[in-house]
Amino acid sequence: EKKASIEYMSRIGSAGGKIPLGLKRKVLRVVVTGGAGFVGSHLVDRLMARGDNVIVVDNFFTGRKENVMHHFSNPNFEMIRHDVVEPILLEVDQIYHLACPASPVHYKFNPVKTIISFFLGISIAQYCCLDICLTNVVGTLNMLGLAKRVGARFLLTSTSEVYGDPLQHPQVETYWGNVNPIGVRSCYDEGKRTAETLAMDYHRGANVEVRIARIFNTYGPRMCIDDGRVVSNFVAQALRKEPLTVYGDGKQTRSFQFVSDLVEGLMRLMEGEHVGPFNLGNPGEFTMLELAKVVQETIDPNAKIEFRPNTEDDPHKRKPDITKAKELLGWEPKVALRQGLPLMVKDFRQRVFGDQKQESS
Ligand code: NAD
Ligand code: UDP
Ligand code: UDP
Repeated sequence: EKKASIEYMSRIGSAGGKIPLGLKRKVLRVVVTGGAGFVGSHLVDRLMARGDNVIVVDNFFTGRKENVMHHFSNPNFEMIRHDVVEPILLEVDQIYHLACPASPVHYKFNPVKTIISFFLGISIAQYCCLDICLTNVVGTLNMLGLAKRVGARFLLTSTSEVYGDPLQHPQVETYWGNVNPIGVRSCYDEGKRTAETLAMDYHRGANVEVRIARIFNTYGPRMCIDDGRVVSNFVAQALRKEPLTVYGDGKQTRSFQFVSDLVEGLMRLMEGEHVGPFNLGNPGEFTMLELAKVVQETIDPNAKIEFRPNTEDDPHKRKPDITKAKELLGWEPKVALRQGLPLMVKDFRQRVFGDQKQESS
């Protein structure tokens, strides 16, 4: 393990840590899978600003070209349309592995997947799960194989969902979780748990330098408008003058992190000397009713609330314990929900009303 780390550091040189005064930082070749998505595109912005050579690998399932288009004319930037379930050969120093279908809601509207699922004789929901599992397992395996071949450092974006419906609160990295292996959310939860297993096996067995982040609910500009996540739903609903849909009694909690805080955490983790896993999230905990109130205050105090039945296996509580990230990465979130939400609303306002203009023309 030490040998792999020394080899990696000698190749990366000053780019791997703090740069002594007067020395120039080596330009890194960085691949970001899922880089056209919400989190990935913000990460790409930071890496490009740092002067790295960035390759985005994305199949545009849930990502959008618009999220990275502003880099197209920069020679340091490359975009490859590719499904990570298929092998790929690249020569890079770092791999940020974010590719993962974010939400099955999308596939309801994808005619190709609807047809394929028809021919396979399975429901669209089954097909979505297959897709999520395949990307998490085979996609992660391919990226680990790539890291092994070229000696790159590999960062996995895992999730707080590995804790399932947690019996420990707040969640510490040493908690093994409470996941239903046969439930409707399992393809995502178990897929990410398997991805963590693979990463640790490649680390122990093949000396791959891995880093694991467990990301808690994140929001911000460029989030998908209609993928069914709660912050994007509430913001889009309030802007469209529709009622905010609160599932269940609305007393379940989540902790919401602004995307710039997450990106800072991911980069510190990649550059640091610790494998993890690390919780990356904002410890500020809100019930869904409290979140609805913040959205009302930010967008429309008259927005109505409508209760809907909750989804199966919905975690009751979620809040990260970030002691480990604070101590070992020197990281903690800076942007509170009431500060971050207006920044997201500005972006959503443009996209929601822009879309409507296009539809009506
Ligand atoms: P996103 O859907 O915006 O981004 C995912 C990207 O991966 C998209 O651009 C999509 O097109 C791409 N992709 C999906 N399957 C692919 C495949 N097979 N091959 C190539 N590209 C593929 O989602 P996000 O919110 O930006 O999430 C990024 C990562 O962070 C994901 O791994 C997600 O599981 C993890 N995460 C996010 C959150 C959150 O709250 N946003 C929380 C926990 C974990
Ligand atoms: N792989 C890849 N790019 C590479 C190296 C490997 O996509 O540059 C894929 C490879 O096709 C395989 C996976 O990563 O499916 C795991 O590779 P590894 O070398 O660990 O396993 P092996 O190929 O020996 O089974
Ligand atoms: N939720 C809600 N209304 C919505 C969408 C989601 O009340 O329109 C609830 C959902 O039941 C869950 C919480 O918000 O309790 C967070 O859901 P999300 O899908 O955003 O994230 P995750 O469940 O993956 O943490």
